[in-house]
Amino acid sequence: METVKKTEQLYEGKAKRVYATANPDYCIVSYKDDATAFNGLKKGTIAGKGAINNRVSNYLMQMLEQNGIPTHFVMECNERETVVKKVSIVPLEVIVRNIAAGSLAKRLGLEEGTKLKRPVLEFCYKNDALGDPMVNTYHILAMEFATQEELDLICQYSFKINDVLSEYLKAVNIELIDFKLEFGKTADGTILLADEISPDTCRFWDSVSGQKLDKDRFRRDLGGVEDAYQEVLKRLLGE
Ligand code: UDP
Repeated sequence: METVKKTEQLYEGKAKRVYATANPDYCIVSYKDDATAFNGLKKGTIAGKGAINNRVSNYLMQMLEQNGIPTHFVMECNERETVVKKVSIVPLEVIVRNIAAGSLAKRLGLEEGTKLKRPVLEFCYKNDALGDPMVNTYHILAMEFATQEELDLICQYSFKINDVLSEYLKAVNIELIDFKLEFGKTADGTILLADEISPDTCRFWDSVSGQKLDKDRFRRDLGGVEDAYQEVLKRLLGE
């Protein structure tokens, strides 16, 4: 494929910048080392995070594509930049949970690590000013965040991603506790997996030791943040 070059910056988020390209169907995302938690209240830097998340996310998205999930991934440009399909983001954070942790453990009074009898899907409305409030399918349809058909597809993809990803990670001794997905819509209305799948957006626990290999090390000041991200990269890509 010909080289794709960044033109103007379209958006700057907490962990990524998005740039336009000369091709109206493509954008370039650039991953930052900046880390935030608790709706931006906690801020910091995780050295090398941008490059690791770029590689890990691209690797997992390509693996998911091979398993029938359409994604925004087009081509890795360099260490921290990737060409992706231009989409409008469906304003939902889709959370999939296998084991109770974080806000679910707190909300339902469950001990962290409690296995759920079946996977749980949750939706939050992507809105920083409101603190990403949880919404249900009635809110989503009433607010027209997505149509019924789009939502059905989003749920179907999310459960399939959970199955494929859980199985894949098991082979490298990582247990997939929970994760957050975002979906986008192309100009022709196709729903694609967008954003990223990385230690920033998933809870990964070592299957043997139970050690946390994700952003909870930053959120909870557990230390060894860089090493944990590096370990995930190594287990997946062997580097
Ligand atoms: N998550 C995320 N971005 C968010 C909120 C959650 O990537 O803005 C991920 C988080 O890393 C975890 C899962 O979604 O893997 C569930 O997070 P939870 O609701 O437990 O919230 P947290 O405890 O992270 O505040």
